[in-house]
Amino acid sequence: MDITPLRTAVSGSVLAAGEQGWDGARASHAGVGRPEVIVRVSSVDDVSEAVRFAAASRRVAVVRAGGHSAWCTLDDGILIDLTALDAVEVVEDPDGGALVRVGGGARWGDVADTLAEQGLGISSGDTRSVGVGGLTLGGGIGWMVRAWGLAADQLVGAQVVTAEGELVEVSESSHAELLWALRGGGGNFGVVTRFDFRAHDLPAVVSATLGVSGDARPILGVLRDVLATAPRELTVTYMDVPAMDPSAPAGASIVACWIGDDEQALRSALAPLLALDAVTEVDLSVRAYPEILLDAPMPDPEQPLPGFIGGNTLVVDLDDELIDGLAAFREGTPASVLFLRSLGGAFGEVAQDATPFPARGATWFAMAGAFDIPGMVDDARRAELQAAWADLEARGAGVYGNFTTTTDPAFAARMYPPETMARLVALKAQWDPRNLFSRNHNVVPA
Ligand SMILES: Cc1cc2nc3c(=O)[nH]c(=O)nc-3n(C[C@H](O)[C@H](O)[C@H](O)COP(=O)(O)OP(=O)(O)OC[C@H]3O[C@@H](n4cnc5c(N)ncnc54)[C@H](O)[C@@H]3O)c2cc1C
Repeated sequence: MDITPLRTAVSGSVLAAGEQGWDGARASHAGVGRPEVIVRVSSVDDVSEAVRFAAASRRVAVVRAGGHSAWCTLDDGILIDLTALDAVEVVEDPDGGALVRVGGGARWGDVADTLAEQGLGISSGDTRSVGVGGLTLGGGIGWMVRAWGLAADQLVGAQVVTAEGELVEVSESSHAELLWALRGGGGNFGVVTRFDFRAHDLPAVVSATLGVSGDARPILGVLRDVLATAPRELTVTYMDVPAMDPSAPAGASIVACWIGDDEQALRSALAPLLALDAVTEVDLSVRAYPEILLDAPMPDPEQPLPGFIGGNTLVVDLDDELIDGLAAFREGTPASVLFLRSLGGAFGEVAQDATPFPARGATWFAMAGAFDIPGMVDDARRAELQAAWADLEARGAGVYGNFTTTTDPAFAARMYPPETMARLVALKAQWDPRNLFSRNHNVVPA
C-alpha cells in the first residue's frame, strides 16, 4: 500500500509500521496493537482524508479517542488517532442553559476541568483519561447517572465524518435518527469529530468513601434498600478488589457521590449504612467534581493485561438471591473483582426506544470477574467460572458493551434487543454499508 498520497493530504503525522515514533504512537491504555498505518490527525479535514484513504485502500478504519478499549490492541487497519481534537468549549444553549462542545479526541478529565471553572458539569466517566468518544458512543455511566442519565443522554448534537469522508452536522432537527444511533450504538456510524452536550449546574459534590469489611451480603442488602428511596442526587458504587497495585488497595469499599455541597444531606441518605458495624472507616468531604475523578496509569506494554472471566449485567431487581450469587462469585476466587453501581432515577426515565442503550428498567449495574492468570486458572476452573457467571448474567436484563474487554464480533447481538438492533442495522446500511467502521461492537449492515 502506497501511503505517500495520505502523507501529502493530511497536516497531521502519518506513521507506517516501524517508523520513528511508531511504538509510542501505537501504545494505548488498553495495550499495544499493530495497525498498518497510524494517522495522528490535527484537523477535521485530516479525519476526512484518513477515512477516504482507508476506504479507497479497502482497509478497516480504527478510531481511537481515549484508547481505553480493546479495539486498539488488534492488528491491521488504518488507525485514526483523534488525540489532537481535544478542544472543550462552553457556549450558550439557545434553548437556555449551557452547552459544552467537545472535540472527538478529548478526555473526560479535561471536560470536567473546563466545566468546573464555570460551576458546571455533565455525567461522564469516573476516570480522567477515558475518552469522551468511546464512553459516550457506548452510553457512559458516571457519577450523576441517577440525576442526569447517561453521558449519551446529554448528547444533543454532533459533527460526524461519514464513511464517505463527508462532514455532517447531527442534531434533533438534522439527521435525528443518526443522533439516536450515536447515543449508545457505538462507533459504527462514522467518526465523531465534535460532541455537543447539555451541561448542568454543578457547584460541588460531596464525596464519601466507606471502608467495609465482613460478609458482603448484609452490606449490599442495606445499600440496595438505601438506594431504593434515595434522592437522585445520590449515586454509589460498591467495589471489592484483590491486592493489585499500590494505586488500588485491596478490600471492599462503598463510594458515594452527592450533587451539591450539603454534607448533612449525604449523611442522612447514607444513615442506615453508616450505622453498620461493617463500616470500618468513613472519609466524607465537599470536593470539586474533577477532584473525585480517578487516574488510570498507562500499562507496561511488556506486561500483557490478564484475561477476565466474567462480565456485567444490568439488573432490574437486585434481590437477595442475586446478591448471594455475586458475593459467592467474588469469594470463590481470590483474584477476582465485584463492582456494583446504582442506576434508576433519570437513567430510568429515558424511554427505552429513545436511545439504543439496553435495559432502562435497571436499578443496578453489576460486574464481576476473575483474572485469568496463566498458571493460576486451568481449563476446568475457567469453564466453571464461565458457567457461574453465565447464570448470574442471565438474571439481568442486558449487558453494557463498554464495560467489556471482548472484541468478539458476535457480542453486539447480545447487547441490543432485537428491535434496537434492527434499527441500528438499517442505519448502518445507510451510513456505512461497507462496514469501514467495524472495530467496535459491530453492527453488521444488512
Ligand atoms: C480505566 C477505565 C475506566 C472506565 N470508567 C468508565 C466509567 O466510569 N463509565 C463508563 O461508562 N465506562 C467506563 N469505562 C469503559 C469505557 O467507557 C470504554 O472502555 C470506552 O470504550 C473507552 O473509550 P475511549 O475513547 O477511551 O476508548 P477508545 O479505545 O479510543 O475508543 C473505543 C471505541 O469507541 C469508538 N470511538 C471512540 N471515539 C470515537 C469517535 N470520536 N468517533 C467515532 N468512534 C469513536 C471506536 O469504535 C473505538 O474503537 C472505563 C474503562 C476503563 C479502562
